[in-house]
Amino acid sequence: MLDLAALIAIDQVMAKLGQPSKEVVAAIDASLARWFTPTKPNQVFPTTAQIRRRIRDLVKVHDDSIAVEDKRPKNRYSMMTRAQRATLELEVDSSVGIIIHEAIKAAAEKHEVSMAEALILLTTGKVEPEAARVVLHTYKADDVEDAPVYVEGHGWQVGDIPAKSTTVRDLSTKPEASKSYGPATMVRKYVEGRDGTCRAAGCGMPAWLCQLDHRINYADGGPTHPDNMVALCQHHHNMKTDGRAFYILDPDTGDVVWLFEDGTWAITEPSGPLAPKRKRWARTIAQDIEGYRARKHREAQELKAELDKEQREAARQTEKAKNKKSEGGEEIPF
Ligand SMILES: [Zn+2]
Repeated sequence: MLDLAALIAIDQVMAKLGQPSKEVVAAIDASLARWFTPTKPNQVFPTTAQIRRRIRDLVKVHDDSIAVEDKRPKNRYSMMTRAQRATLELEVDSSVGIIIHEAIKAAAEKHEVSMAEALILLTTGKVEPEAARVVLHTYKADDVEDAPVYVEGHGWQVGDIPAKSTTVRDLSTKPEASKSYGPATMVRKYVEGRDGTCRAAGCGMPAWLCQLDHRINYADGGPTHPDNMVALCQHHHNMKTDGRAFYILDPDTGDVVWLFEDGTWAITEPSGPLAPKRKRWARTIAQDIEGYRARKHREAQELKAELDKEQREAARQTEKAKNKKSEGGEEIPF
């Protein structure tokens, strides 16, 4: 019943033991023989994958100094069908995921279809991918070593996003005012990077989906400059335009003080990567990620120690049971 593929699988895992003792080989051989021997009529023989898994477990019991499997994250794809529906799942590094996501989004926008529809069109070759035209805005501190990258629409992540071409804009100081009503890219990206979200209290609309409001109207001489501009979503922009609320912007801290009709007021802090408080955060998030990884590593080591202990206990029990059987005079063939 053992075909070549199964024998290769056994050999590949066994090879990791190096030069195992005769006793170890005999013990593994006995375990496999027991497992391979059918105990029911028409019992299906284990698959190569099952055999590989089983022998990995056996090898682990006999030599815990080796790792038989690489469990580091790798790209994964799976499909599951249930009734008339199918679910497809892709697991990749976040930098790759963001690029794919943006490519699907670009196709969805161009063809005015949903994201799901766009992915179907792309993968069935009905439309051409727009990947080459995906524009992604990221923010990164250049005075912090290994600074995390803030990806517009996706938040913080470690490591740069691979790009075909990159335009770098220096936003370490405030850009000059735009001459026109519409802000230049530098002004827009500075305000979005400072504000993070719509600046109304409790509103989470991402800044890059917001409108930039001239605090003092452009017509009244208000400049198109970050010191006079705030990201507001459509809803909260209307609230301001209608005169139901008015705000003051602190150009140094980016704080917005809202003054309401009924005389109450509220302060909101900017939450984007360029916000003064967040600039420091770029440093701490790098440390946080390092700390998180160290903790996860420690937990994984502790888990392994725990599992090993259980496995040793289980192996001892099996050995005990086996010895009892042998005492009965029953011969084990090999
Ligand atoms: Zn809002």
